[in-house]
Amino acid sequence: MKVAHAARRLVTCDAARAAAGNSLGTIEDGAIVVDGDRVDWVGSRSDIPPGIPIVDHGDVALTPGLVDAHTHACWAGSRHAEYALRMAGGDYEAIARAGGGIVSTHRAVVAATRDHLVGGLSSRLARMATLGVTTVEVKSGYGLEPDAERKQLEAINEAARDMTLPHVVPTYLALHALPPAARGERDRYVRRAADELVPQVAEAGWARFVDAYVDRDAFQVAEARLVFDAARRVGLGVRVHVGQFADIGGAELAAEVGASTVDHVEHVSADGVARLAAAGTRAVLLPTASFTLAQAPPPVRALREAGVEIVIASDANPGTAPTESLPLALCFAVRSYGVGPEEAILAATRVAAACLRHPGMSGELERGVLQTGAAADFVVWDLPHELAILQPWGVSRTRLVVREGLVIHEAKKRG
Ligand SMILES: [Zn+2]
Repeated sequence: MKVAHAARRLVTCDAARAAAGNSLGTIEDGAIVVDGDRVDWVGSRSDIPPGIPIVDHGDVALTPGLVDAHTHACWAGSRHAEYALRMAGGDYEAIARAGGGIVSTHRAVVAATRDHLVGGLSSRLARMATLGVTTVEVKSGYGLEPDAERKQLEAINEAARDMTLPHVVPTYLALHALPPAARGERDRYVRRAADELVPQVAEAGWARFVDAYVDRDAFQVAEARLVFDAARRVGLGVRVHVGQFADIGGAELAAEVGASTVDHVEHVSADGVARLAAAGTRAVLLPTASFTLAQAPPPVRALREAGVEIVIASDANPGTAPTESLPLALCFAVRSYGVGPEEAILAATRVAAACLRHPGMSGELERGVLQTGAAADFVVWDLPHELAILQPWGVSRTRLVVREGLVIHEAKKRG
């Protein structure tokens, strides 16, 4: 049955409706008609086709569901002790070398059952839904050893089957850190990821993308190239952690292999930026992580001026981005990175959804945009204007969150 949802500000994020002074394609007194899992019609409230029941949400903003395009939300354990050390001046890379950081979460993930991982991830996804998020990219990369990495990917895919949670896009993070068990056999570890794990992940349908952490204390360009070449051979897309601590040529590699995204990019050369633009690779910025690490921002203006599209994501993880809140990341992007308010909203809706589409995939629902035929993923905010999403930090201001036509979160009515 068709139902119309009307709101004072209907924020479509549809490029075809954007105009000077209205980059988000907002329709005042607008409405969408939802038919099953899709948007069937978009327009002015006064033009809703006859005979369709109307839910009037009143003097509020209605936007596409938010899309969080970079998370490590499948994990176990807690890193509160390490956080205290870092806040007292401990250095992140030094803590990692001493067995903390990613490797400490690795130990907890190895010890966890698959069901425990599913439960933890599902709880996090449910909390993300309360914040207005309807699509979440989730990386593996804490298992590190083949069996544990497979367990983590299975857990992500299990959680992804739950239609009462946000839509999940899984990524195999093939090179994140060298596990203690592989010390002394680094080459073999990288080659096994490229030659065995990547084909297996593709065969099982466990992930859409392959990712690697390219940085001075992580993996080198030549190592990452092996897994990305393997990914391309089996039809998987590529995302790359680039330049979080140092520029070692990750952006140039990402452009070379046609990566969908480079993520972090606090450190990137002018030549690297130009190559990203030429390759159509988007930049996923993670302001919560750079806030936690007290880092300088990435070169947002240079990226924008070169024509590299910007995505903002939460980076939700137990170490450097201890939050599940994409809206909080948007607040930080606007406050600390010089990202414009409308630019930030597009970076968490239409552009974020675009960076999660795999060029080789067809027939998938459009997300991050309210247009005819797109997924009926939307948020009714308890806020009078879309720009107010960037102000009330650290709290949920959603009234209704819908994924593919189904309510996945509804705030309790008071008064
Ligand atoms: Zn990450």
